[in-house]
Amino acid sequence: MNVATEINREILGQIAAESIAKIDPQSANGKRWINAIGKATAEIETNPYMTYSHDSHSLLMMSETSNQTYTANGTCQCKAFANGFPCRHRALARLITIYVERTR
Ligand SMILES: [Zn+2]
Repeated sequence: MNVATEINREILGQIAAESIAKIDPQSANGKRWINAIGKATAEIETNPYMTYSHDSHSLLMMSETSNQTYTANGTCQCKAFANGFPCRHRALARLITIYVERTR
């Protein structure tokens, strides 16, 4: 699935808002996850190179800023993940997994 062209923004925005509402900002990494979800929704508007795999529930994305390709589901290959922090790649993979379950 091509993320930039096939995702309904209104539904995804709603899923993002629900996800943010469930996060306790005082919890470990809570603020970082909220931040990551915000960046994830912005990424859809700016990054045309994202593909979601229904089979592996993973998001393949090419970053224009770093020229890196990331495959995110529970794990990721980015610096933030390596340092134990939330990242927008995993946040977006999770949002789209929920989206696919809700819209099929
Ligand atoms: Zn990442």
